[in-house]
Parts: sequence; C-alpha cells; structure tokens
Amino acid sequence: MIQDKVVIITGASSGIGEASAKELAAKGAKVVLGARREDKLKQIADDIKAAGGEAVYQVLDVTKVEDSEAIVKLAKDTFGGLDAILLNAGIMPVSNVSALKTGEWKEMVDVNINGVLNGVAAVMPTFTEQKSGHILAISSVAGIKAYPGTAVYGGTKWFVRDFMECLRMESATEGTNIRTATLYPAAINTELLNTITDEGAAAGMAGLYDAFGISPDRIAKVVSFALDMPEDTTVNEFTVGPANQP
Ligand code: NDP
Repeated sequence: MIQDKVVIITGASSGIGEASAKELAAKGAKVVLGARREDKLKQIADDIKAAGGEAVYQVLDVTKVEDSEAIVKLAKDTFGGLDAILLNAGIMPVSNVSALKTGEWKEMVDVNINGVLNGVAAVMPTFTEQKSGHILAISSVAGIKAYPGTAVYGGTKWFVRDFMECLRMESATEGTNIRTATLYPAAINTELLNTITDEGAAAGMAGLYDAFGISPDRIAKVVSFALDMPEDTTVNEFTVGPANQP
C-alpha cells in the first residue's frame, strides 16, 4: 500500500522525479523531494499540497554524502519514519569516446554512480534497523544494451543494475527485508537531453526523442506499481518505453 508511506525522491525537480512525486502523493504517500534547483522543488511541493497531498523538500546534491544524510533526517523528523527512496537523479551528457569529454565522464560517474551509493548509504541504517524498506532505482535501457555514444552513461546505468541485483540478493539472505526495484526507461520526454553538450549526440538524441518520446507519467505509474506491492513481494525489474521505439 502506498497510503502514508514516506518516500524520498532524488532528482524530484523535473521529469521522472517530478512525475513520480505527484503520482505517489496523489495516492497518499508523504513525499520528500530533493534536487539542486530549490525554486522548482518549492513549486512542485506547492502543487502537491494544493492538490491535497503531503510534501516537503530540501536542496540535495546527490554527490554530497552530507546532503543525502540530511534528506533522510528531514524525512524522519517531518513524517516520523522512512519507507522508501527513489534513486532517480541523473545526468546524460552522451558523446562518442573519441570526443574525450573526460570532465563529463567524471560528472556522470559522480552523479549516476556515487549519487546512488550516497543515497543507499544514507537509508541503509534505518532500513536495516527497522527490517523493512524499499529502494527503487532508475537505470536505463542503456544499462542493458550498448549504443554508440552511451559508453560512459550506459556504464553508469549498468552499474546501477548490478548493484541493485546484488543488494536484492544480499537483503534476501541477510533477512533484512529490504526490497529493491530497478527500472529501465527508454525515450522519455524530460529535461535530460539538456545535459548533452556534444552537437552530434544532441542532434541524434533529439531526433530519437522527437520520433518516439513519451511522457514521464508512464514511468511514475510503474514506480507506483512497484511501491504498491505487498511486503512479501518484490517487483524486481521493469523495462518501460514507447511502444513504437525499436
Ligand atoms: P531530468 O533532467 O528531467 O531530471 C533529472 C533530475 O536529476 C533533475 O531533477 C535534476 O535536478 C536531478 N539532478 C541532476 N544532478 C543532480 C545532483 N547532482 N543532485 C541532485 N539531483 C540532481 O531527466 P529525467 O527525468 O529523464 O531523468 C531521471 C532519471 O531517469 C535519470 O537518472 C536518467 O538517467 C534516467 N533515465 C531517463 C530517460 C529518459 O529518456 N528521459 C531514459 C532512461 C533513464 P537539479 O538539476 O535541480 O539538481
């Protein structure tokens, strides 16, 4: 049941994170929004409250350990507990390896990998102690299959896949009852393409998304489905994308 669950959402200021926050809040979850753009977070929290939901927000840079710990504290102080985290924050400055955009490689590793690790590290003590908790992560179809231009981005998303599956198995054997769910979206119309600086890659992606992109609401519905499962059931992996995207 989603009703009254306390859920942290990273990268909640736009796209899939915003859509998930609104979907879960509409179903009765108490959502805790984190991202770097405070004005966007405030607007989304206001929208949720105006619709009768419960939301708080805090500026969060997922690359900073202390920010991840602070948002867990905010959730527990505000709502008296923590049930789930959606590890959604991510960037996608794709380019061919030969472009040698080494700064962007490091940024992707920091946000898409270290950001996930910081979030998990921040919630694990609570989830382990209470012997329940749900960790949901947004990987990508680029974390399953290689595409030209996604060598580093896809690598970070492949990491998420491997990490989440290891976590699932360890939690099962340790008896901590921590559930995991990993989502692999394809082309979803969000602000994600804004992080691309390579002109060729940007043009290619724009063409793909113009042709196939669908609303982030669709991913939010899958997040909601996974979160709604009974405590004895884990929805482990979902690939979700446009029906007409090859
Ligand atoms: P958006 O760009 O709309 O959302 C990305 C979110 O991540 C924003 O809220 C952004 O907020 C946040 N973010 C970025 N860097 C940081 C940081 N250092 N700390 C905290 N928050 C950060 O794109 P999407 O909604 O599409 O992306 C969400 C996730 O979905 C990403 O992990 C992406 O890789 C994944 N994905 C998206 C697909 C798509 O087609 N759109 C396909 C497959 C996967 P702010 O800038 O305010 O910090």
